Amino acid sequence: MIKHIVSFSGGKDSTAMLLMMIENNIHIDEIIFLDTRMEFPQMYEHIKKVEKYINRSITVLKAENSFEYMMFDYVKTKGKNKGEKGYSWPDFRNRWCTSYLKKQVIKRYLKRYIDDEIIEFHGIAVDEGERLNKNKEKNVRYPLAEWGITEKMALEYCYNKGFDWEGLYENFDRVSCWCCPLKSLKELKTLYSKYPELWEKLKRMDNRTYRKFRSDYSVKELEEKFEKEICKSRYIQRSF
Ligand code: SF4
Repeated sequence: MIKHIVSFSGGKDSTAMLLMMIENNIHIDEIIFLDTRMEFPQMYEHIKKVEKYINRSITVLKAENSFEYMMFDYVKTKGKNKGEKGYSWPDFRNRWCTSYLKKQVIKRYLKRYIDDEIIEFHGIAVDEGERLNKNKEKNVRYPLAEWGITEKMALEYCYNKGFDWEGLYENFDRVSCWCCPLKSLKELKTLYSKYPELWEKLKRMDNRTYRKFRSDYSVKELEEKFEKEICKSRYIQRSF
């Protein structure tokens, strides 16, 4: 049997894809959301809202251990860092979280369909050429790209259906784990200025681990930098 599985991140593209697929009566066997447990609180609300809207449930998959357990407490059992505690912050060379919290979880889960042929549907817009070229697996389809839907069109479509993520897409171009050190400085500054509770948590996490948040800045250093920039811009605004 062929199983149609929607890979649903909760972001604008996968939300638009899912709603459009349902609108076009495309058969879907299962909708899967990989929960890193570090999504923005607004994203968890969005998932609930989508479930209600489509009137069917979304399968939520989580790794056995949480992001924080792996970051601080997991004891490495092999390799040159055997015995070391915690993976600490991910960086561009070591995205342990993508592999542990996402890829391994989905791979394990899909084994239940071992006797079936799986077609996965991924929400990648037509103007995301680089991502589309990277993901050429033959069992994956990209309905947004097939339909010529751009990222902007996907977002507008979601807004028109009443999904606004409580403003997340007005603040960030991409919505992923709120604590991700791979965010741009601009996005981290937004996190600092608009999501103070999450920023405080980020600082506490940074204080507990051995690797610097980013190679150039710790969270505390970022805070000092952002505060200076914000004060300077307030001063300039007052002078005019
Ligand atoms: S968004 Fe960042 S923190 Fe989250 S899984 Fe991806 S690399 Fe890791």
